[in-house]
Amino acid sequence: MNVNLAEFKLLGIDVRVHWSFVLILAFGAFLYGSGPAGWLIGGVYGVLTMLLLFASVTLHEYGHALMARRFGIGTHSILLLPIGGVANLERIPEKPGQEIAIVVAGPLVNVVIALLLTPLALLLNGGNHAGILAMNAVNANIQNPGLLNLLIFLISTNLFLALFNLLPAFPLDGGRLLRALLAYVQPYPQATQMAVAVGRLLAVLMAVFGIFTGAIGLLLIAFFVYVGGSAELEAVSSRAVLRRFRAGDALTHNAVTLYTSERLERVTQLIMNSYQTDYPVRDLAGQFVGVLTRQRLVDGLRQFGPEARIVDVMASAASIPRCTPDSDLASVWEMMSRTGSRVVAVEAQNQVLGIITSDDISEVFQVMGAALQAGRRPPSPPASRTETQETQGYV
Ligand SMILES: [Zn+2]
Repeated sequence: MNVNLAEFKLLGIDVRVHWSFVLILAFGAFLYGSGPAGWLIGGVYGVLTMLLLFASVTLHEYGHALMARRFGIGTHSILLLPIGGVANLERIPEKPGQEIAIVVAGPLVNVVIALLLTPLALLLNGGNHAGILAMNAVNANIQNPGLLNLLIFLISTNLFLALFNLLPAFPLDGGRLLRALLAYVQPYPQATQMAVAVGRLLAVLMAVFGIFTGAIGLLLIAFFVYVGGSAELEAVSSRAVLRRFRAGDALTHNAVTLYTSERLERVTQLIMNSYQTDYPVRDLAGQFVGVLTRQRLVDGLRQFGPEARIVDVMASAASIPRCTPDSDLASVWEMMSRTGSRVVAVEAQNQVLGIITSDDISEVFQVMGAALQAGRRPPSPPASRTETQETQGYV
């Protein structure tokens, strides 16, 4: 199901506008339409103000995304929701300095927007500072459509966006900042744990405040902070466990290898008496030429039947990402989520030693992770990008 109202690409990043965004436009139309300007002019003006507000939110997200790009971290997409935006980075940097730069870039964009618009507003208001402050304080005035009011609205909301995002409520920007600062003096998982605890406390306070004042937006943000913080804590802890193991150790040494000359029939027999789901394929000279994944096998059987040749159905070697035996499993896991491939080939001196699947990593995590940290759930396989997206968003 397509839940996006609009989708476009800007500076190489996909921007997705969630369908519920129409609610915010309707809210803007209602807010200003019910004001002194009347439904038509007020309504159009209301929609315009909301669009400009969300343009500011989008620029904030671009602040994060473009700063991340400077450190070689790509952005899957920027998602726009009525409660704000999320920049889905490929990964969260573990160097505190990088995270601080990426975090600060977002609110900084809003401060810059406010600073750029302020001289314009002053000019329109005949250089009268006090007048602007007074108008901002009196909400009644601001419901009147007009360029000056629009500027004042944008200046104040951009300043608000910068300040609100800097609340230390992980995964809001301020919480990420707190985590990065804590990471200078303690290990990353513990720093995250502490930032998440502070974030949860603030989420509860926000929720209570939201309930008593009827601010639904604040309730939603409180929920987002609570759930988002837990999801990222989970991801960070998983990564810390996986970091202790090398790709070379995770290779299954008695894994079954297939040959290009064989047919799918052979695999259907193999599957009966093994748990192996993905098979490396070699040619008769022993060269690695591809992988027959479970999905390819199922599709191949459905389309061509058991007589089909493995070489016609497999994923080619070129499409399989590579790592070395020394690569730690956390980076292999990241590679899987970045490329969307559930299989990575382990290569040493141009020879592919074998393959690692997301199931192998889950298994290592389950068995070894249990020994290190009792009672944790294994990470779910990176079957689709959305799973990792939710844990790596900059708001
Ligand atoms: Zn942000």
